[in-house]
Amino acid sequence: MQLEDLPLGALMEVAARPPLAFVRGEGSWLWDHTGRRHLDFVQGWAVNALGHSPRAIVDALAAQAARLINPSPAFWNEPSARLAEMIVRRSSLDRVFFANSGAEANEGAIKLARKWGARNRGGAYEIITFENAFHGRTLATMSASAKAGWDRLFEPKVPGFPKARLNEFASVEALIGERTVGVMVEPIQGEAGVVPADDEFLRALRALTRERGLLLIVDEVQTGMGRTGRLWGHEWAGIEPDIMTLGKGIGGGVPLAALCAREAVCCFEPGDQGGTFNGNPLMTAVGAAVMATVSDPAFLDRVGQAGARLASRLRELSAKHRLGEVRGRGLLLAMDLGREVGPKTVELARERGLLVNSPRPATLRFMPALTVTDDEIDGMAALLDESLAAALRPDA
Ligand SMILES: *Cc1c(COP(=O)(O)O)cnc(C)c1O
Repeated sequence: MQLEDLPLGALMEVAARPPLAFVRGEGSWLWDHTGRRHLDFVQGWAVNALGHSPRAIVDALAAQAARLINPSPAFWNEPSARLAEMIVRRSSLDRVFFANSGAEANEGAIKLARKWGARNRGGAYEIITFENAFHGRTLATMSASAKAGWDRLFEPKVPGFPKARLNEFASVEALIGERTVGVMVEPIQGEAGVVPADDEFLRALRALTRERGLLLIVDEVQTGMGRTGRLWGHEWAGIEPDIMTLGKGIGGGVPLAALCAREAVCCFEPGDQGGTFNGNPLMTAVGAAVMATVSDPAFLDRVGQAGARLASRLRELSAKHRLGEVRGRGLLLAMDLGREVGPKTVELARERGLLVNSPRPATLRFMPALTVTDDEIDGMAALLDESLAAALRPDA
C-alpha cells in the first residue's frame, strides 16, 4: 500500500504524524504500510498491556461479539459485572463504573468527589492536583491537568483545581481550605516524563486526607493494570485510596476505562452518571481477559524482572553516552538525555525500526508490552544505542 493512496486529508489534523500507517501487529511488533517491521516500545502509549493482537483478546472479542455487543447500559450484563468483581476483589475499592477513556473515568471521579463534597462537606468542590499532572483532554480533566502550554487553551477553564507541587507535602497542606474536597494524584506522572510520587509522599497524602476528612483520588490510568510490576501503582506505597481511575492497559488496546470507589464514597444516584457505551459487554469481556492474565502473581513477577532488565540496559546506555537519570518502575521507565534531543532520537530510532516516545524534549519514555521478552529488550537497547550515537553526533 502507498500512503498517497489513503484519503488522509479527510481526517482532522490533531497530531504531527510521521509518514507511516500501520497495518498489522503481533506482540511487540508492528508492520507498516510498506511491510516493514518495527519493534514497539510505545504500545499505543502503554495501552496494549499484552502486546498487539494477543490471543486472549482476539478470542474474547470474537466470542463476545458473536454473543452480545451492547444491550444498553440501562440493563445488567454479565461481562461488566464479572470484571467489576475482579477489580473489587483485587483492590481496596468496592464499586466500579466503566467508561470509555481515561479522561472520562477521571471526569467521573471529579463528579463523584463534587457530589460527595456537596453532601458531606458543605458544598466543598476543590480538588488539589499537581504541577505537570496529566488527567485527560476533556475540559474538566484539562483543568485538573497542568501540562506545559495548556494553561491558555480553551478558556475559560473549569474552576476548582488548585495546583500543588509533587513530593512537596507543605505545598498540598497550604492549599487546603473550606472548599477542598480531595487530592488527585498520579502514582507516577507519566506524561510529565515518568516522575514518581515518592512512596513516603503518597503515605503522607493518605494520612493528611484521612485526618482532614478529604478524598484521596489516585489516577492509575497509566500506572495501573500491572504496568509497574504490581497490579496498582499505589500498592508500592501501601496505601488505600478512596477513588481510583483506570484506563489504558485495562482494555489491552480497546476503549475501556474504570472509575472505582470505596462504598462510602459511592453517592451517585440514577441520572447522575452514565453514557451510551459505558460498561458494554464487548469491551468489558476484553477487560476481563486482560485482568485474568495480568493479575496472576507470576505474570506480575515477570513484569518486574523485565523492568529490571530494561532499566539496567538503559543505565548502560546512559553511562556509555553520558546521559542522565533512568527513572520509573516496572515497565514504565524514562531516561533523561540531558539535552533536547528526544524528538531527534525518536526519529532516528524510527528509521532503524524502533518505536520509542519522547514525552518531554530531553526525555525518552519506554512502555513496552508487559509480555515483552528479554531478547526484545536487548534488541531495543542495540537499536537505541545506534540511534543515540547518531542523535548525539555534533553534525546531527
Ligand atoms: C492517558 C492518561 C489519561 C487520559 O486517558 P485517555 O484514555 O487518553 O483519555 C489520564 N490520566 C493519565 C495518568 C494518563 O496517562
